Amino acid sequence: MTRILSISNQKGGVGKTTTAVNLAASLASAERRTLLVDLDPQGNAGSGLGIARDQVELSIYDALVGERRIDEVVRPTEFGYLDVAPASRDLVGAELELVNADRREFRLRDALAGVQGYDFVIVDCPPSLGLLTLNSLTASTSVLVPLQCEYYAMEGLSALMSTINLVRQGLNPALEIEGILLTMFDRRTTLSAQVVNEVRGFFGDQVFQSVIPRNVRLSESPSFGKPILLYDIESAGAQGYLALAQELLAKSDAPSGEPKSAAVG
Ligand code: ADP
Ligand code: MG
Repeated sequence: MTRILSISNQKGGVGKTTTAVNLAASLASAERRTLLVDLDPQGNAGSGLGIARDQVELSIYDALVGERRIDEVVRPTEFGYLDVAPASRDLVGAELELVNADRREFRLRDALAGVQGYDFVIVDCPPSLGLLTLNSLTASTSVLVPLQCEYYAMEGLSALMSTINLVRQGLNPALEIEGILLTMFDRRTTLSAQVVNEVRGFFGDQVFQSVIPRNVRLSESPSFGKPILLYDIESAGAQGYLALAQELLAKSDAPSGEPKSAAVG
């Protein structure tokens, strides 16, 4: 079964795109067939993989609003096992164009029904709770919420949680919370440690054990059009996302009741 993860938080700059790109690449490096969907009109997820937004001819917009099939939009990357459905500038208008459309919240789900063979689909959401994010939540099996280890980390989280609950009540009852991911952790500051304690105190085991450190290599790699694994695999940032992928896979590879060791060998 394909697992579809929305990487969502309506706050900008919390690490959604960085997480979408590098988690997708880490899953691909573990030989899981992965599709990264760039649902942010900014197109940063695509450009993080070396695809310039202005050179995209068919984008996820054409599959959501236009008549294109998603397999016309998806393209391979130099990273084996990883494909991408890029964004384009047109996506800016999609929120409005979809308002009066048929099945307006189901466009992404319907489009993704046309792709096969992926273990994971990772959707990079825009920084809003509009129709694009609703499409993502409606299409997803779970949501991964990045939280920046900064002042007001949890600000806005209740709006996101109510949106998730609304989606569960109608559009997608099976939607799960995959987990909360702490990003940009700086071990030299007490603030980061305080945020980690506060978030873990509040959300308990819904918070991933893996924490993504603040790491300059993570902020450099997009300008080379590469995920961190191809840019600097030794970096703390790369190791953070590899650990996150392993944590996610350990959960999914060991269904409840089956001991994890049974999956080895
Ligand atoms: P969002 O998609 O939520 O807006 P981004 O992933 O684009 O957030 O991250 C915002 C900025 O912070 C980008 O410039 C990105 O390169 C940088 N960044 C993200 N995560 C890290 C990190 N762990 N360490 C250092 N810089 C980071
Ligand atoms: Mg982003």
